[in-house]
Amino acid sequence: MNSQAPKRRFPLALDKVGTRAPAPASARDLLMPQRHLREAAADAARQVAPSGLGLDSAGVRLRMVQRLQREGLRDERVLQALADVPRHEFVDTALAIQAYEDTSLPIGHGQTISKPSVVGRMIELLMAAAAARDGNLGRVLEIGTGCGYQAAVLARLARHVTSIERLKPLHDKARHHLTAQRLNHVRLIYGDGRLGHKPGGPYECIIAAAGGEDLPPAWLEQLAPGGRLVAPMLDPSGRGQVLVVVDHVVEAGASRIVRTLHEPVLFVPLKSGVM
Ligand code: SAH
Repeated sequence: MNSQAPKRRFPLALDKVGTRAPAPASARDLLMPQRHLREAAADAARQVAPSGLGLDSAGVRLRMVQRLQREGLRDERVLQALADVPRHEFVDTALAIQAYEDTSLPIGHGQTISKPSVVGRMIELLMAAAAARDGNLGRVLEIGTGCGYQAAVLARLARHVTSIERLKPLHDKARHHLTAQRLNHVRLIYGDGRLGHKPGGPYECIIAAAGGEDLPPAWLEQLAPGGRLVAPMLDPSGRGQVLVVVDHVVEAGASRIVRTLHEPVLFVPLKSGVM
């Protein structure tokens, strides 16, 4: 993205909602009950909770997204999708207050919800390839549904999402969360994601939220021509995990797989079988 790019919708949307605290009311205003009603109506119109802290408020999510934008997340539609998904509804009530920090949080069964910046970065890499098509992620395969948060973000940018989880309690938890979000183009599968899900493929995008030593062959087989895969994987040098991007390139009728390594990451392990 260069500096000559046309002005985009996202920063305008931020301005429109606004996150500033209301101006202090005078003592006379505070004595008039209708003053409170007016304030509440104005707050509702701005979608900012009166305290500025309500987790249901769009303002809280926008502040998180503005931070991610300052830290380098650029794709306007990814930012908007992150601004639209109520992350606090995907974590336990006791952790909800931390839901808009850029941290991973426990979701039970030894697993974690990924950091918003990592979710954003991985989806941004998928969007970069989608730009060469129609800008839509198309059919997406996600490995590691967890609590369903990333699936909800993907669903805002894709035609269809198939998401696989190997732990039954998390699969059930994600179903509960995604039903509440009324996302009916997300299909949740309980199974071993290392095998992918052939009936739903081939996929324009494959994204993994757990990392193994190498990429399972089924993922590459189920990646559509022109498609892109983004996953954590053991660094070939053996030192920790890195993000790997695989493109299924088709040129002059011939197709080939192009693999590039990106920054170090830290994901839970990709395991086999179901539990
Ligand atoms: N995308 C999730 C992140 C969950 S953490 C979210 O937004 O919450 C990664 C998940 O991958 C864990 O729930 C773990 O159980 C799952 N996982 C690990 N290996 C797997 C496999 N082989 N198949 C499917 N899921 C797997």
